[in-house]
Amino acid sequence: MIEIKDLYKNFSDLEVLKGVDLCIKHGEVVSILGGSGSGKSTLMRCINGLEEITSGTISVDGYDVADKDQLRDVRKKCSTVFQQFDLYPHLSVLDNITLAPIKVLGESKESAIEKGTALLESVGLSDKANAYPAQLSGGQKQRIGICRALAMRPDYLLLDEVTSSLDPEMTAEVLEILKKLTSDGITMISVTHEIEFAHEISDRIVFLDEGRILKDLPKEQFFAEDGGLADPRIAKFLTKMGKVNG
Ligand code: ADP
Ligand code: MG
Repeated sequence: MIEIKDLYKNFSDLEVLKGVDLCIKHGEVVSILGGSGSGKSTLMRCINGLEEITSGTISVDGYDVADKDQLRDVRKKCSTVFQQFDLYPHLSVLDNITLAPIKVLGESKESAIEKGTALLESVGLSDKANAYPAQLSGGQKQRIGICRALAMRPDYLLLDEVTSSLDPEMTAEVLEILKKLTSDGITMISVTHEIEFAHEISDRIVFLDEGRILKDLPKEQFFAEDGGLADPRIAKFLTKMGKVNG
């Protein structure tokens, strides 16, 4: 379980997260929605210790993110995929995927290659094993990014707007993969602007507004007229995203 309690995060005098309480259980698929600048990325970065938290606590299966010795365990449990494909340009696709399992998990090269190859197959990119990132489309890079995250066999997969720099066709490719993962039972926390996708795959929707959780509801309730949609802030957001037909 990921447990976030009374989380505050400031960047000097800018308060970005203002008392976030959030709990994500094993097996849940949670989508985080919210306007630009509401603190979604900061929240995701705090969860795996990429940002130092100002106050409050975050624990991942009991490991404290703020404790340097426990952070390593947190990072083994959480793999993140970001909007910007951060593949290593000088490594082949397969080497990008096998690097961390070999270096961090101590997996044998043979085993890492075998698993990496199977992951590539699962995203339909077996033929790209020896290609370099520069030779791939954005959608392909992002599918490789997902393989790389999954190669660490994470307990939690964190996704921060993984499709927002992709065109609609590539977005569809990537969403298809993510959908398959959720049906395989992965725990996923996903920041997304793909409202229909969030509606389809999520167990819960968390709506972040100016650094606070405005709503944290089972998706049926979030998208109900007398539920999340009754909140003017959320209704306005969804209308802007073009997902409410009145
Ligand atoms: P979102 O992902 O919801 O769009 P972010 O978490 O990226 O929002 O940003 C929330 C706020 O925090 C924004 O005002 C942003 O400018 C600010 N911010 C994010 N990262 C930093 C940083 N490293 N230094 C200073 N301000 C930051
Ligand atoms: Mg963001």
